[in-house]
Amino acid sequence: MSKIVLVTGGARGIGLGIVHAFAAAGHRVMIADLGASDEWRYQLSGVQELEKAKKEESAIGEVDSCEVNVTNFASCESAVAATVAKFGGLDILVNNAGVLDTGPIETFEEEDWDKVFAVNTKGIFLMSKAALGALRASGCGAIVNTASIAGKAGNANMSAYCGSKFAAIGITQALALELAPDDITVNAVCPGIVGTAMWLEHLIPNRGRTVDEQQQKFEDSVEGRIPLGRPQTVADIAEAALYLANARNVTGIALAVAGGIVMN
Ligand code: NAD
Repeated sequence: MSKIVLVTGGARGIGLGIVHAFAAAGHRVMIADLGASDEWRYQLSGVQELEKAKKEESAIGEVDSCEVNVTNFASCESAVAATVAKFGGLDILVNNAGVLDTGPIETFEEEDWDKVFAVNTKGIFLMSKAALGALRASGCGAIVNTASIAGKAGNANMSAYCGSKFAAIGITQALALELAPDDITVNAVCPGIVGTAMWLEHLIPNRGRTVDEQQQKFEDSVEGRIPLGRPQTVADIAEAALYLANARNVTGIALAVAGGIVMN
């Protein structure tokens, strides 16, 4: 059965991988991401990435794109309305948009803490709230939140990011119970280490000069940390998101896709 899916942060990285997997499986997908590139530690997506994603994924399946800022409720409502207007409803909401920042507590700025929580945590609340009416009407509604293994175990210098992802798992469990009477499932996927902008443009020190060098530095820096021996791909994460969105008797879980880095 073809379902209607809205993926936030869908213009690139893990979100784009999720868009690709759902489109390839025959679902209709709205790619939602920032329109104007937001200022951050590393470049976030802008209108060019959104258009590129729409163009490329249109070759795979039925997709469209819209701008959203998940920190703003009116913007969340507009993205849901655009999805319903385009495809006639909404069955699956993937709350994938996220930002990362790191640093010791002494120097980590309050405004950066607020930004991490605004996107990673409040964004899930606002998008889910905006989508609730459409998900209730669906009859097979599902929410999949992209949390992280950083929401299952703490890391030094990551209090804001870890806190925001632990909270994402807490919201997942609370909404799973709250929305069960509506037959809406709510789950989280917890990626391990995926070579997206977060790693390649922020977490790896001493950047390589070329894309290949940077990729090599990424692989070297994570080697040895992953029991199954390789970083995760966006396809690994998308496979889990697709499963969680379609499993009708699974709710409230936070599924790690991390090659064995965490096992709970
Ligand atoms: P990414 O930076 O490539 O993708 C994040 C996307 O979110 C970008 O397209 C960005 O424009 C969008 N975004 C940021 N702020 C937004 C906002 N206010 N409104 C709408 N969109 C916004 O990084 P990614 O690795 O693909 O991250 C996707 C998700 O996966 C995030 O939630 C991240 O925390 C999570 N995650 C990533 C990893 C990893 O190793 N890369 C591991 C665990 C969890």
